[in-house]
Parts: sequence; C-alpha cells; structure tokens
Amino acid sequence: MERTKPYRILLYYKYVKIENPEEYAKEHLQFCKDLGLKGRILIAAEGINGTVSGTVEQTDAYMQEMHSDPRFADMVFKIDETDGHAFKKMHVRHKKELVTFRVDEYQLDPNELTGKYLSPKEFYEQLQQEDVIVLDGRNDYEYDIGHFRNAIRPDVESFREFPEWIRNNFSQYKDKKVLTYCTGGIRCEKLTGFLIEEGFKDVAQLNGGIVTYSKDPEVQGKLFDGKCYVFDERISVRINQTDEDVVIGNCIHCGKPEDRYINCTNDLCHDQHICCVACEQEHQGYCSSSCAEFDRQRKQQLQTNQ
Ligand SMILES: [Zn+2]
Ligand SMILES: [Zn+2]
Repeated sequence: MERTKPYRILLYYKYVKIENPEEYAKEHLQFCKDLGLKGRILIAAEGINGTVSGTVEQTDAYMQEMHSDPRFADMVFKIDETDGHAFKKMHVRHKKELVTFRVDEYQLDPNELTGKYLSPKEFYEQLQQEDVIVLDGRNDYEYDIGHFRNAIRPDVESFREFPEWIRNNFSQYKDKKVLTYCTGGIRCEKLTGFLIEEGFKDVAQLNGGIVTYSKDPEVQGKLFDGKCYVFDERISVRINQTDEDVVIGNCIHCGKPEDRYINCTNDLCHDQHICCVACEQEHQGYCSSSCAEFDRQRKQQLQTNQ
C-alpha cells in the first residue's frame, strides 16, 4: 500500500440548477478561502465545475459540506494525492456556461439530452470494436501529449470551436458508432448532446473522463498513450498504469519524443510548447528564434533608453 500524501487535488462537476449563481459564487469563494483551499471553480445557472487543492482534512471538510447540500449530494469527486497545493490562489467565478460552447440553436442541458454513459470497462471494450469512431473531446494541445489510441484529433484550440469543426470535418460519421472522451467528463456531456442534436445516431461518452479511466483497477488506463493534460501546476499526469505507457509528442526544437510543456520565455508570447530539458537550456525557454530575437531587441532597447 502506497503511503498517503498530505495533499489532495479534487476534480468535480455537476450540472444542476443554481439559483442566483452570482451570489452563490461569492459565498462559495469565502467558504473555500475559510477552509484554506486553492484552485479554480466556475459557477453558472447550469451548475458547478471545480478543481481545488488542499490538505486531506481541508478537502474532506469540503466534500462533506458539498455532499450535505441536496444539489450536490451525489456529486462525484475525483481525488489525486499530491505533495502540496497545485494552485497559487483561490478563484470562484460566475460564468454563463460551465464550458463555453456558445451554441444558440440548441438548449444542450445534459440532464435532458446527452450521450450514453460508458464505464471505463465498457469504454475499453468498445474502443477495440471494429467500425467505432473515437473523438477526442479536448483541444489540440491536449491531444498532442496524450490520447486514446486511434482517436481523432480535433483541430480546435478551444471548446467553442467544436460546433464548427464538427459540421465541417466530422459529419460523415453520423451513421457510425461514436465514442467521445475528455479529461473529467464535463465537456463530453455537452459535446455528445450537440452530436445527437446534429443527427448522430449512436453517441456514447466515457463517464468520469480519462482521470476516472486511469484509476479503474481493471482497465488501469490501458489504450491511452501519453500523458493527460491537466489545468493545474502539474500540467500533465500519467494515465496508463501498465507497462504499455509511452511518450507521445515531440520536442518543438529537436523533434525527440517528449511530453513536457513549458511556457515561452518571451512574456508577450508565453506560448505553451513541448520542449525537452536539453533544448530548454539551449534555447533559453524560447519557443522560436523569432521570440528569442524579439526579446534580445527589446532588452537592447531598454538599455538604450536608460
Ligand atoms: Zn529538444
Ligand atoms: Zn514564443
């Protein structure tokens, strides 16, 4: 048995009607601060989506309190153990949508219409069936460091680009069996609803997302290649717990297999790019020679101005 680490990261969401979401967001921020949690929580009229870090005691208190609220009584918390906080601050924001999709034609309430939920084991089995189309429900940069084998890479940089991308690039699969997955499941709830509205006949989603799939004692992340991008200071986590774990992705400079993301040293670029340790040193963390040159000229200019 592995030793328990002193901190935890919680990942959770629930599509449920929240009255006065703006006010609730303010109260919830205070509640989280009082507990000592750090992280990012979104509150909308359609529900809650959060990821927070804290000690075992703090996160226990949070989960207990949330579960005592009838709206969140059955909310599932995905729990990762860790050595410290994974965020710098505590934010609770009110938003119009939990995941920004901006589709005006449909209501897209997952409690009314969404794809079939598949357990990790069901998903694992169906992944291996013939004639199945697997669609990654995340952004291109997430796909690039890890994804399910044979999954289609959506050419989108943000979730709101999906509707257009699907209409232009994916409509030929309307009569196929389509499986979707995302990090924790929240994006697929909307994405699959959208696909059904668009006329896709057989749509299913990985319940609990990649994170849950990784923890399932039976499938252990099998058929997931590479790492899973996460929106906290860890940047990525291992999913495939078997010896089939591989590195997906290539260093932007030398092309060697690599799956670590760093931010460009040029503050005005700050582009997250895949970079190996050797190249980070050699290129001083710049994503490109133009960024390095830009910064060199800016520093020179600063010196002349002094
Ligand atoms: Zn390199
Ligand atoms: Zn750059």
